[in-house]
Amino acid sequence: TSAAAANFLRPIVQADLESGKHAKIVTRFPPEPNGYLHIGHAKSICLNFGLAEEFGGECNLRFDDTNPAKEDQEYIDAIKSDVEWLGFRWAGEERYASNYFDRLYEWAVHLIEAGKAYVCDLSPDEAREYRGSLTEPGRNSPYRERSVEENLDLFARMKAGEFPDGAKALRAKIDMASPNMNLRDPILYRIRHAHHHQTGDKWCIYPSYDFTHGQSDAIEGVTHSICTLEFEDHRPLYEWFLDNLPVPCKPRQYEFARLNLNYTITSKRKLKQLVDEGHVNGWDDPRMSTLSGYRRRGYTPASIRHFCDLIGVNRAGGVVDISMLEFAIREDLDANAARAMCVLKPLKVVITNYPEGQVENLELPRHPKQDMGVRVLPFSREIYIDASDFEEVPPAGYKRLIPGGEVRLRGSYVIRADEAMKDEAGNIVELRCSYDENTLGKNPEGRKVKGVIHWVPAAESVECEVRLYDRLFRVANPEKTEEGGSFLDNINPDSLVVLKGCRAEPSLANAAPAERFQFEREGYFCADLKDSKPGAPVFNRTVTLRDSWGQ
Ligand code: ATP
Ligand code: MG
Ligand code: MG
Repeated sequence: TSAAAANFLRPIVQADLESGKHAKIVTRFPPEPNGYLHIGHAKSICLNFGLAEEFGGECNLRFDDTNPAKEDQEYIDAIKSDVEWLGFRWAGEERYASNYFDRLYEWAVHLIEAGKAYVCDLSPDEAREYRGSLTEPGRNSPYRERSVEENLDLFARMKAGEFPDGAKALRAKIDMASPNMNLRDPILYRIRHAHHHQTGDKWCIYPSYDFTHGQSDAIEGVTHSICTLEFEDHRPLYEWFLDNLPVPCKPRQYEFARLNLNYTITSKRKLKQLVDEGHVNGWDDPRMSTLSGYRRRGYTPASIRHFCDLIGVNRAGGVVDISMLEFAIREDLDANAARAMCVLKPLKVVITNYPEGQVENLELPRHPKQDMGVRVLPFSREIYIDASDFEEVPPAGYKRLIPGGEVRLRGSYVIRADEAMKDEAGNIVELRCSYDENTLGKNPEGRKVKGVIHWVPAAESVECEVRLYDRLFRVANPEKTEEGGSFLDNINPDSLVVLKGCRAEPSLANAAPAERFQFEREGYFCADLKDSKPGAPVFNRTVTLRDSWGQ
């Protein structure tokens, strides 16, 4: 197992504990429930929960639910189950920013009373124009000098539902000429006559992200509020609110570089588009970069946590190679997944010199290194091998079965191909072979047999479906498109190949949902969480045995 990369926040936390600045650290993971969690969120989860775990602190799960139109209970449930699946436990019950709406409202009133907030009637378009640009200072809103009494009255009437959406907004009175756009009288409250999944119809005004986030951190006693770099220039505003409100404590915000992974989309909006437009089969489609997608694909929580250790935490950014994630899951499955044999494109083999009616129950270890017991493979006259393991006209270096050549059946005997039976169209439909009865567990006398192929018994194997998943995007940067194109143009048309009529060894017949295996010579697979049934298993390819991209 490779070493973890650096995390620049670890020494900061350590120093804060050693100096006594904090007796205990509190972090939080703050998703907006407007989609499923993706691999980028895993980085933030491992960071926030990981620091709390490492330093004996606590991490809260807080839903940042200030935008009711896009949010849904389905997402809340999925997020909770994904965080748990990754192996983390939040402190106490999950929290909701909406739990703090009453307090935030009081704090908005507090700012109005202090002359630091006002009700503004500019339309969103006008407000944008007044805001100016990076090169040009903004102009004060004509409503900026309203009296405290008028502001209190209008804000109460906004809350009472007297005005339509967008007619007014509550803004902080800071500095319309600030070089930091976030300080140009940012919006604190908007009018939105919308039903909220937690608060129902209680509110028709909703606080902005900026007015909610830091104060929620303060209410919860968060010590280190860790977010991605886009929020770096929100930090002065985050601190302005803490300095101007009677908050119980002053959390500090730290920023780190978000995870970008090549061949992968990590934007909830685009992932939602893939789902809504039917490019994939739901949020948990095994090709999705969602945690529920990786879970269904066969990734282990440990492999994702290990990946997050490997990439480290810094402020530099960059793009991580997907092969690191694939490395992490291969390493885990190689060490921990049971071995089994499954023939994807079955070709019947009749071993003509093997006595009719005879069956030998061969025992093969379930794992080459770990003691995981054995599995039993009945060996008799008829078996299946993979059609690609026999070639009449073999390419150079071919080590499998050829006419008159020999190969070892994994865990069994050496066989020789004697005759290929064909249908009228010339397709090979069956092989006639003979076996060497002195080769079970030992090398044949006087000759070397190089190839080893997998096989299953014809009668006792179970028919199954195998879904070969590959990367959803065929280019490293799916966001890069032709003029007028979209990331959808970069979808890999071969990202899913469904094989029916595959044959699995008997031990696979009752694979438990999500149980993981190495199918020898084929790759790592897991029984599909939803579609696999006892006696009729469905397997998803998690990852190939080796990295075959870019070769
Ligand atoms: P998206 O852009 O996909 O909508 P988001 O940042 O809006 O992501 P949130 O639900 O607000 O989604 O994210 C919750 C937490 O996860 C935030 O603290 C955010 O910084 C973090 N996060 C989101 N995407 C990434 C990423 N790619 N890498 C690291 N952290 C991320
Ligand atoms: Mg966000
Ligand atoms: Mg977002």
